[in-house]
Amino acid sequence: MVAPWDRRSDDDRARIEAATLARWLPGAVTAAPFHAARVGDIDDRLIVDRRGLQRLAPTRERDLLADGAGGGSAVLRPNEQQVKATADDSVIVGIARAIRRDGTGGKRDALVREYRPLQLHRGGVAGELLVASTRSDLDRQHRVGARAAAVLGLREDDVLVSALPAGPTLDHLGVVHLATGAALTALHARGVGDDLTTVAAAAARLPVTVLVVAAHEADVLAAVLREERTELRELRTVVSVGPPPTAQQRAATIDAFRRAGADREVAILALWGPSVSRSLWAECVEGGGGLHTYPDLEVLEVLDPLTGRVTDGDGDLTLTSAGWHGTVHLRFQTGTWVDPLTTDPCPGCGRDVPRLVGDLVPHAWELPVALDGGVRGTIDLRGIAAVVARTSWVTAWRAELRGPDERVPRDRLVVELAGTGPRSDTGRLERALEAATGLAPEVIAGVHEDEVVRGIDAAGGVLADRR
Ligand SMILES: [Zn+2]
Repeated sequence: MVAPWDRRSDDDRARIEAATLARWLPGAVTAAPFHAARVGDIDDRLIVDRRGLQRLAPTRERDLLADGAGGGSAVLRPNEQQVKATADDSVIVGIARAIRRDGTGGKRDALVREYRPLQLHRGGVAGELLVASTRSDLDRQHRVGARAAAVLGLREDDVLVSALPAGPTLDHLGVVHLATGAALTALHARGVGDDLTTVAAAAARLPVTVLVVAAHEADVLAAVLREERTELRELRTVVSVGPPPTAQQRAATIDAFRRAGADREVAILALWGPSVSRSLWAECVEGGGGLHTYPDLEVLEVLDPLTGRVTDGDGDLTLTSAGWHGTVHLRFQTGTWVDPLTTDPCPGCGRDVPRLVGDLVPHAWELPVALDGGVRGTIDLRGIAAVVARTSWVTAWRAELRGPDERVPRDRLVVELAGTGPRSDTGRLERALEAATGLAPEVIAGVHEDEVVRGIDAAGGVLADRR
C-alpha cells in the first residue's frame, strides 16, 4: 500500500513522479500548441521523466502572452488518438466505462470531463494570464484544498469566514475549493465592492473559528472587528493569504486580534501559491515549517533567473503542473524568489513533503515601469539574461533601470555588453530584448569587460534599479 501523500519514502515519491510524468508529459508536449511548438528538435521520446523535462527551456509569462491572448495556447487540447496514447489508466478506464454505458455520447461526456476548460482564473503579474481548469482539475483542487485544510489543522466542526474579495483569482477560488474539499461550513463573505465591515457583520452571525484574510489586510480586519465589537470567542485560526509573514508581522497580528477580543492566542498561518498555479500551499498548525507543497501533483524546481539552470541556491520558483489538464505549465518560471526547497521532515508536523522555508517574494524580477505616454507596464528583467544567453559573443553584461530624464520621458533600460559582435547585431539585440523584457532598451556594445565587472561590483549584481 502507498503511504499517504505527506508520509512517503523518497523511493515512493520518485516512483509516483516517474509514473505521473511518463503518462502526462508526452500529452503535454504534443497536445498543447504552445509547448508543441517549443519542443523543436528535441526527441520527444526522451521527454518522459524529470531529466527529459529538464531538456525543455523554461518559459515565462511574457512568452505565453506573446504567443496568444491570455496564454490560451498552453491549454491541453488532445485529439482522440492523443488521449489514447497519453491519458493515464484511470482516464482510459473511465472513458471505456462511459462508452459501454452511453455509447458515443458517453465518450464525448467523458472527454469533456477530462479536457474541456470549465473554469478560468486570472494569474500572473497583472492578471493577464488566464489559467484553465477542467472538471477533473476542479476535483483535484478540492483534494488539494482538503490537504491544505489538514495542514492548517482545520477540523470538520470549524466555521470559516473568508474576507478575501470575490474574484477570478487563485486566492479566492482556492479558498472556496479548500472549504468545499474539507467539508467545512464556510461563508465567503466579501462580495464585489464590499469592505471589511461586511465581513464583520457576517462573522457576528456565526460562531466563527477560522478567519481567512489577505495578508496585507489581516491587521485592518482585526481593527474593524474590534470597532464593530464582533464576538470572537471561538476564533482560533487566522489564515493569512499571501507569502508567510515575518515573526514581527505575526506577533503584531496576534496582538491585533487579542485587542479585538479573541479569547485565546490565535494561530496566524500562511496560505499561498503562485497565482498561475492551481494549488495553495499551507503552513502547518504545529508551526515553523514553512509552506508544505504537494510533490505528487506538481514538479517544483528552483532556477537561477540569470541562466535558467537548476540551482542549489536561492532563485526563481519554477512550476510544472504534473498531471493537471487545462492549462499546462512546463517549467514555468513563476518569478517568485525563494530559498532552496527543504525536503527534511517538517520540525513541526513531521510531514516530509518539500517545503518553502524563509522569505518568498512573488514577481521578484518583474518590476513596474513607466512607459511612453505615462502608461504603466511591467519589465521582466529575467528576459535580458535569456537573450544574452543566446548571444555567443557576449562575455559579460550588466543592466540598469533608470528613471525618465529630459530626453526620454519614460523609464529606461540600459544594457552594457562586453565582447565584440557584428555591428548589425545591436539592432537585433535591441528588438530581442524589447520582446523578452517588455521595454525597448539602449544597448551599449563593446564595453571593456573590466568596466562591466566594476559596474557589477558597484551595483552589487548585474541588475541595478537606479530609479
Ligand atoms: Zn509542518
